[in-house]
Amino acid sequence: MGDVAVSGTEILSKKLPYEFKDPSLLDTRAYIGGKWVNAASGATFPVYDPEDNQVAFRVANLSRAEVKHAIDVAHQTFRTYKQISHRKRRELLRKWTDLVKANRDDLSAICTLELGKPITESYITVDYGISFVEWFQGEIERLYGETIPAARSNNRIFTIREPQGVVAAITPWNSPVAMILRKVGAAIAAGNTVVLKPAPETPMCAIAIAKLFERAGFPPGTLNIVTCDAETTPQVGEEMCHNKLVCHVSFTGSTAVGKYLNTECARSLKKTSMELGGNAPFIVFEDANIQKAVDGLIASKFRSSGQTCVCANRIFVHRSIMDEFAGTLRATLAKTFKHGSVWDPTVNFGPLYSPKGIEKVKRHVDDAVSKGGKVILGGYIEEKLGPNFYVPTVVIDSSPQKMLFGTEETFGPVAPLVAFDTEEEVLELANTEESGLASYFYTEDISRLWRVAEALETGMVGVRVGLVSACEQPFGGIKASGIGREGSRFGVEDYVNIKSITVGI
Ligand code: NAP
Repeated sequence: MGDVAVSGTEILSKKLPYEFKDPSLLDTRAYIGGKWVNAASGATFPVYDPEDNQVAFRVANLSRAEVKHAIDVAHQTFRTYKQISHRKRRELLRKWTDLVKANRDDLSAICTLELGKPITESYITVDYGISFVEWFQGEIERLYGETIPAARSNNRIFTIREPQGVVAAITPWNSPVAMILRKVGAAIAAGNTVVLKPAPETPMCAIAIAKLFERAGFPPGTLNIVTCDAETTPQVGEEMCHNKLVCHVSFTGSTAVGKYLNTECARSLKKTSMELGGNAPFIVFEDANIQKAVDGLIASKFRSSGQTCVCANRIFVHRSIMDEFAGTLRATLAKTFKHGSVWDPTVNFGPLYSPKGIEKVKRHVDDAVSKGGKVILGGYIEEKLGPNFYVPTVVIDSSPQKMLFGTEETFGPVAPLVAFDTEEEVLELANTEESGLASYFYTEDISRLWRVAEALETGMVGVRVGLVSACEQPFGGIKASGIGREGSRFGVEDYVNIKSITVGI
């Protein structure tokens, strides 16, 4: 392996229309105990550029044994990291945040390269990620304990909040910088050490974030990045769930995998945080401002080409305004998005992350059409923009009871419109899904606003907004959409234990 480049632009197998300011952020090695390592076997796996499905990098493919070693190292480091004062920890987090900010151009470029996000969208997701670590800095010194009046007059009771230990973190490919900063930032802020397995589609963002983490001066072993391919993932997942040194498994990804990991973690009673899939209802009542609802739907449904967990997936429109709504949506979509190279800063709509994404979107549209849905916009791949470029699509006469989108996230730019007649009927439809991450609705009726916000069975509700996430706000789902919250003070709370101390006087 000695003469094979492992970092810098030499590892890129294609020329980009972007020049890296700091090419050393590009690295194909894993990061364990403060050392940059190849797999002992020399194995690597390919990372593809979604714009053309060509291999862009080859990254270290670690084994289960190497992940176990990373957990050992993180456990050793925890003994010293947890002793660091809250003030010092905050300073380290601030340095890391400043470095991430200073390198946002390169981080956004890596995001665009491995995820296929238009560069403008990559900047938005990197800035969104930065907002979380900035927020967590403030939380570190607010990890207060309490004093509690004791029932026994000669006792005094107080609590302290302590870090938990080694957190094993697993993140998905969509929005890699933000998902990692939101999860790892909170765990580290609370005083834990972390072993992170990024998705095999987007490991380069994780590696670049770790490079900046190293430069911030954290003790070696505080954050470890273990990269592996999808074939090795199940063994790595098993190690993380069964290893006694892991205290907490924190996962963002699909509900199916989350249920499996939670079951495995139950064997050793590990704490888990589960940020899982959604199938968000988006309801437009007859009294809504139609243009505002259309704008909100476009923000919720079509940003990131429909590849976020909080994207609207089931769009319910009151029957009396359906024609006007569908027409306004089609007209607004036609002037909202510019297609083209993801490196063009004026382009705001990009390809899906992989052929897997394309397959699912096609399956959902074909299924809807075969069951009576009518495509009134889009419904095809724009081949001249690349094999994964599915255009914004609207399907009317849709039915969540009959069609796949009713029970599966489409994770693509397809808006199925469903007509409804009454508030009771639409709430019933919205709440039948087993998932409960985000929901949205538009109304101008103040009583309905409170009634519906309280009736929707989701962890987050957007009322007259299409975006429901910010660093200060608890992010997470109920029902099969997960356990725990990310962001806000609750995001850090998830990574501490409360210890109560009773003192006899
Ligand atoms: P996924 O298939 O569940 O994968 C997510 C991560 O889990 C990947 O790193 C994946 O690695 C890993 N993984 C899969 N099987 C595993 C196992 N047995 N043990 C350990 N790790 C395992 O989900 P995805 O398709 O990448 O991401 C999209 C899903 O994430 C959607 O359902 C979306 O709604 C959800 N999501 C939720 C949130 C939220 O905050 N609630 C945020 C973003 C995304 P491999 O790829 O190698 O299998």
